[in-house]
Amino acid sequence: MLFSWLTEHRRDKILAEPFPGEWLEYLQDDVPHYQFLTPDEQQHLRDLIQVFVAEKIWEGGGGLDVTPEMQVSIAAQACLLLLGFERHDFYKNVQTVLVYPQGYQTTSEQVTAAGVLETGSARLGEAWGLRGPVVLSWGDALSGGRNPFDGHNLVLHEFAHKLDARDGSADGVPPLPEGQEQYDEWHDAMAPEYDELVRKSENGRADLLDGYGATSPAEFFAVSTECFFEKPRQLKSRHERLYDVLQRYYRQDPAGRVEAYQQAHPASPEEDGETHDGHRHNGRHKHGRKHQHEHEPARL
Ligand SMILES: [Zn+2]
Repeated sequence: MLFSWLTEHRRDKILAEPFPGEWLEYLQDDVPHYQFLTPDEQQHLRDLIQVFVAEKIWEGGGGLDVTPEMQVSIAAQACLLLLGFERHDFYKNVQTVLVYPQGYQTTSEQVTAAGVLETGSARLGEAWGLRGPVVLSWGDALSGGRNPFDGHNLVLHEFAHKLDARDGSADGVPPLPEGQEQYDEWHDAMAPEYDELVRKSENGRADLLDGYGATSPAEFFAVSTECFFEKPRQLKSRHERLYDVLQRYYRQDPAGRVEAYQQAHPASPEEDGETHDGHRHNGRHKHGRKHQHEHEPARL
């Protein structure tokens, strides 16, 4: 098809450009997970970042000028989710990334240049509708990337919602390429894990998984994704089936990756322990960790 040929041609031109030296410094400073990757994976991630940065519309909210560091840090975290996929569309359902300086207080009934209808509450991030923008607080995107082991990562969370929405519904089940058997396995693993988190959350008991995941199956997938990349060895040992279906979906093994890295670097930091219901970090608590995903701006 002509369109896909043009897209391929444009991407080839993007990738013919060298990866800027400053971008590598941003990666090393802001996204420690990059260090855990093999040289081939690092090369692949750099390619994904170049295309993602070039193809998305970047917009600053609240007077923010979006810098290359912001683009690279956000792109690296978003594209980490794509690293193992044989086929993907570079988040075709995200045209615009809208970045605010910090957790942002939306005012009532404002339409931004990105077409987002804001309705008035404090938020850290959002993944609007099926094809709407991803909206992020830069402060939280940066701190989430810089701490690879606390189980919280705003960018991974919001872009997991976008993967989920690729099949037209943000219901906690992204399109699974291997067909019915993979859907069956997904459901058999996810449903009891979700129910258990809901029970624990109702009883005020902490789990490795953030209690925010008990809000809905869609949040459970997003929260599980954060844990899969940020506390992979603990997830594997304590929620083995959940780890297995996520490993099969993402085609990545972060537990093995972190294990190998830490054997080679014995003094490097370890994964954190329990996560307390999304309230462990003051920032999360203050902003109520609110997201809004289901509402297409045009319908509001
Ligand atoms: Zn969410």
